Amino acid sequence: MSERYLKEILQKSFNIVCLLGRAPAAEQGCDFYTDDFSFHVEEKYGRTPGEICSSTFYNNRPQEFYSFYRDNILRRRGEPDEVNFTLKRMEDDGRLKGIITRGFFDLSHRAGCRDVIHLYGNIDSNTCPHCGKVFGADYILTHTPLPYCDRCGMLIHPGIALSGEMLDSQVMTKAIERITSAEVLLVLGCSLQSTLGSMAHYFNGEKICLVNRVSDYSDQAADCVCIGDIGKILRTAYPPRE
Ligand SMILES: [Zn+2]
Repeated sequence: MSERYLKEILQKSFNIVCLLGRAPAAEQGCDFYTDDFSFHVEEKYGRTPGEICSSTFYNNRPQEFYSFYRDNILRRRGEPDEVNFTLKRMEDDGRLKGIITRGFFDLSHRAGCRDVIHLYGNIDSNTCPHCGKVFGADYILTHTPLPYCDRCGMLIHPGIALSGEMLDSQVMTKAIERITSAEVLLVLGCSLQSTLGSMAHYFNGEKICLVNRVSDYSDQAADCVCIGDIGKILRTAYPPRE
């Protein structure tokens, strides 16, 4: 029933914005977001992933940071899945007007989506702090132990946001503008009370559609709720054309 309703909503609107949570990425092997991963990191490094991905750690021990970044993030970046490929189809059809995510594995871009707002940066936008040149994950993987800019020789800053650093306020402003101007808000892989999902309070369009693995008491604020395999539900609601 709710999948049919989701299909109806998605096939009617040409102004959909997606809040993409981390659940789909975690299912694709980007295990940075799981408890198991935190446990493994603490055992191996004696610190939490959050402590390592901080400006203090990065500034004091850049070589250790980059070794961690390569082994635990870049080499575990997963592959785009059904969720991202469906979003790409919706974007190509002119329905989807943007994806907003806190995830940094860049799966949507890698699936071909063009309009993605990364609130916490992403692994393919490692940037030279001096000249601004951007380097993809592969450059970082192959330039060891420390990756320097091939144009000016400065140490490249990782593309993901480090705790203790200022977030780019323009990125947040752009995300909020996108949400407020949307007709349909598609929330995938997070609940409405999560940090990302709670951005739904900026929305004043027609319908909030939520697709998640597990249900939550906050789901009742959505107009259409589908619980289960996110990729499968999305594909059923927005099937590829024959
Ligand atoms: Zn440079």
